[in-house]
Amino acid sequence: MNQDKIIKLKDLVIQIFDLFIESPKKKTWKSMEDYWKSKEWKSLRNRVKKRSGNICEYCKTYSMYAVHHKTYERLYNEEISDLVGLCRDCHEKMHENT
Ligand SMILES: [Zn+2]
Ligand SMILES: [Zn+2]
Repeated sequence: MNQDKIIKLKDLVIQIFDLFIESPKKKTWKSMEDYWKSKEWKSLRNRVKKRSGNICEYCKTYSMYAVHHKTYERLYNEEISDLVGLCRDCHEKMHENT
């Protein structure tokens, strides 16, 4: 292998490495609105729905209306335990208190 080829190969390796470290960044969202429309958020919502049986996890009476964040600590990367499925009334109450 001549020197030229080695340099090109090095460039390629650096490019691949750049791609590699850039990819997790692509998982960030331009805005919260973008995130609410994402597959990732939809699948989290579905997991909360499954856990709650589509019934409000607070009053356990009305059907689930919203997925509420108990904490925004892990926003964009929430744990299922950060979220709670609430009916419309309970969700409104939750936001009145905070
Ligand atoms: Zn409720
Ligand atoms: Zn909420």
